[in-house]
Amino acid sequence: MSQELFATRHLGIRPEDLPAMLKAVGVQSLDELIEQVVPHDIRLPKRLALPEPVTEWQYLEEVRSKALRNKVYRSLIGRGYYGTCLPPVIQRNVFENPTWYTSYTPYQAEISQGRLEALLNFQTMVVSLTGMEIANASLLDEGTAAAEAMIMSYGLRSRQAVKEGRNLFVVDTEVFTQTYDVLVTRSAPLGIELLQTDLDSYQFTGKEFGLLVQYPDAMGKVRNFKGLTERAHAAEVLVTVAADILSLALLVPPGEWGADIAVGSTQRFGIPMGCGGPHAAYFATRDKFKRSMPGRIIGVSVDRHGNPALRMALQTREQHIKREKATSNICTAQALLATMAGFFAVYHGPEGIRRIAENAHRAALLAHHALQKAGYKLAEGPFFDTILVDSRGEAVIKLRKLAEDAHFNFHHSLKGIGLSFDELTTDDEVEWVVELFCQAQGKRAVPLPAEVEECIPPELRRTSPILTEKVFNSYRSETEMMRYIYKLEQRDIALNHSMIPLGSCTMKLNSAASMIPLSWPEFGNIHPFAPAYQMVGTREILQETEDFLAEITGFAKTSLQPNSGAAGEYAGLLVIRAYHIANGQRQRTTVLIPASAHGTNPASAVMAGATIVTVDCDTKGNIDIEDLRRKAEEHRDTLGAFMVTYPSTHGIFESRIREMVDIIHRCGGQVYMDGANMNAQVGLTSPGYIGADVCHLNLHKTFAIPHGGGGPGVGAICVAEHLVKFLPGHSVVYMGYHPEAIHAVSSAPWGSAFVVPITYAYIRMMGPEGLTHASQYAILAANYLAAKLKDSYGVVYSGETGRVGHEVIVDCRNCKADYDVESADIARRLMDYGFHAPTLSFPVHETLMVEPTESESKAELDRFCEALEAIRAEMEAIKQGNADREDNVLKNAPHTAPELVANEWKHPYTREQAAYPLEWIRECKFWPYVSRIDAGYGDRNLVCTCG
Ligand SMILES: *Cc1c(COP(=O)(O)O)cnc(C)c1O
Repeated sequence: MSQELFATRHLGIRPEDLPAMLKAVGVQSLDELIEQVVPHDIRLPKRLALPEPVTEWQYLEEVRSKALRNKVYRSLIGRGYYGTCLPPVIQRNVFENPTWYTSYTPYQAEISQGRLEALLNFQTMVVSLTGMEIANASLLDEGTAAAEAMIMSYGLRSRQAVKEGRNLFVVDTEVFTQTYDVLVTRSAPLGIELLQTDLDSYQFTGKEFGLLVQYPDAMGKVRNFKGLTERAHAAEVLVTVAADILSLALLVPPGEWGADIAVGSTQRFGIPMGCGGPHAAYFATRDKFKRSMPGRIIGVSVDRHGNPALRMALQTREQHIKREKATSNICTAQALLATMAGFFAVYHGPEGIRRIAENAHRAALLAHHALQKAGYKLAEGPFFDTILVDSRGEAVIKLRKLAEDAHFNFHHSLKGIGLSFDELTTDDEVEWVVELFCQAQGKRAVPLPAEVEECIPPELRRTSPILTEKVFNSYRSETEMMRYIYKLEQRDIALNHSMIPLGSCTMKLNSAASMIPLSWPEFGNIHPFAPAYQMVGTREILQETEDFLAEITGFAKTSLQPNSGAAGEYAGLLVIRAYHIANGQRQRTTVLIPASAHGTNPASAVMAGATIVTVDCDTKGNIDIEDLRRKAEEHRDTLGAFMVTYPSTHGIFESRIREMVDIIHRCGGQVYMDGANMNAQVGLTSPGYIGADVCHLNLHKTFAIPHGGGGPGVGAICVAEHLVKFLPGHSVVYMGYHPEAIHAVSSAPWGSAFVVPITYAYIRMMGPEGLTHASQYAILAANYLAAKLKDSYGVVYSGETGRVGHEVIVDCRNCKADYDVESADIARRLMDYGFHAPTLSFPVHETLMVEPTESESKAELDRFCEALEAIRAEMEAIKQGNADREDNVLKNAPHTAPELVANEWKHPYTREQAAYPLEWIRECKFWPYVSRIDAGYGDRNLVCTCG
């Protein structure tokens, strides 16, 4: 074969570099190293049963043929998913641009100003359209956003309400089915009672703490909730509304009629339906609730020079700090999709967004009028974009067939046929749809009226302006838009600039071949509730990916539904809970979590109704097995699960993992393995082989889905045979019948189905050998860094054989005492060298956790070490008295261009030392757009929208 195998492109280390690297590590061969790293008793006895690899070219041919097996019909199904046009300027410059899709969550704010501004635009857009006071930078989907609103309302109960045991959340009958389903899932473990009822006629009883309505409602009707809201507030009930963001251009927004929380999807702002997701949900509320709000909030602060600078605000609410007291478990959200939806609003501006809303609305008015003329009975308005046709009688059966023959999907339900119009609708389309309805009656088509009467009464019509901020009124030509996007992207470090050595995040190559099919309409334009025969290709990819992941984890079955790692943790714990309940062991709610665990673990466990018991770690960072045994036995009657990350969050393959599993099983608990570190396991060992019962995988880490600046993610869970029947179902789409299945954890049946082909591509192109090599190379790269950095910095933890796993924790704990320098200073100084910092102070305070992954070359690893060593020398200079203790390159990092070219330069070091401390930086200098940001200032003066 003349084509190179993909593995040779994916793996950064060249064969000719191997000898030098092995020598530095001090082993003869890669196998010898792996022998030392991975405990013998958990090594897989045979290679993975996966298909042989295909080349990139072959893959694209193969996936092309799958794409062609999807049928792209025009879906007017609505129910949360609508036709929309992703503007090509955003498709090419954002969606298909590695600067935007390979960047990480903007923890390192100084090198993330571009995506922070894009997310601030999103927040501003949400605030403007909803009329609320504050919005976050996206949640996972509409259903989970509604659940977060329910939980936030629950948490905001007054002391009196808590004492009275108020625990009822009332949901209007006309809320999307999938949203209600997610609420069922999320309410049960917390003891929240749900009641679904017609809220217009509801009398509050004093048991309610919150309510949810949909605006316009699920049948398309725009209801006036002002009276309900007043009654609710009088009864101390918080009002959440799931609102269609586009409709708010025309309707009085929730903020103006008194809602407390507004949630919804921003899919129809240019994001492909993609068989259900990923799409950015929004969450907006009142300013006074900002500290209880889930998810990330971007805020404006100032940098060292007093210039405005953006960063994630109120970080003290984060799970890592608050653990089981965190407000939610949201970590990865939908940053890339929020960025795109924000740009959609930037490009279209207020007139454009109103035009798009009016287009959908006018089409609905036209169709409503014409169908009534044709003799159909329709639900009464007012409506925005969705009309409901009464469909009793035989015309319906004919209509279904006629519509499908004409390649249309309508929404069929007991209540009638729903038609949701959108940005893509034209008059021709409306005419066509009307004609189909006439044909079904055997009648001649009714012409569309020239004029239609507005159905939205004045009291529901929006009069306040939208999107008044400058950014939404500046970029109308494609040239201007392209340059705005480019201006922002130059402020960010992503994988196309340099290695992103974030430990626990696995920032590996996201190959172009795996990304290309996402731009195809055959994958993008599929409505998740379209009939199965229209998504044969997508379903094959989903099914095969599920099977591959089950094989890789050594488990029986996979669910792709959870749309982030934390959502996977939650889903996995619920599956365990359902298993215990089915066994009559409802009391098994104690969850053991090691002190070293990722913060999402305890946060997810609390959401799943668990009581958390923390297990100690010993001085070497390993789980203290005696403490585990003691606590498991002490709680043996209520033990539900043990959550363990493997290799540990310290990057170590603990040798006694099997013993830990045994201890838990003997006490009646289940073992949940956090698979975020799966990149060290694939092909070498597996959670199933080790004996765990469930694991989640972060497909956006190990399996090559790009991180998108903070999402999308896929937190697939894999389970052992005895748990298969509990995997999440879906209320709209048939997922295989299991009466004991838990309710949905996401709005969409396969969560973020649209990005699953990336993982599919990765596994197909790597093949069983390639995947195993990836794990081996990832381990080699980490051990190479450990060998190179152990003298200059020191390595915090290593295993029994003195080796690390796939990541290495670099010690900076003495830097404060020795040099007056903190790990955060080192992180910022790395920016001057053109690097994104490693993971800071997790899981050990004042350390840098480095995960090089298999995709980095030896040359890049060497450059990174050289940078760290140069920084070490800069610290040494402080100690020697050759640099000032306060005014030095570390404390003042990062250095911006304006600062360096200013006429005045008062620092005791040179500009060259600041900007070009090493020769090769000249080749490709990254210029931080802002200097060190004052986070505290921003939190004290919280500003979360742009001017
Ligand atoms: C990344 C990570 C998670 C959370 O995943 P998200 O997709 O961000 O929710 C959980 N556990 C560990 C160890 C992780 O590294």
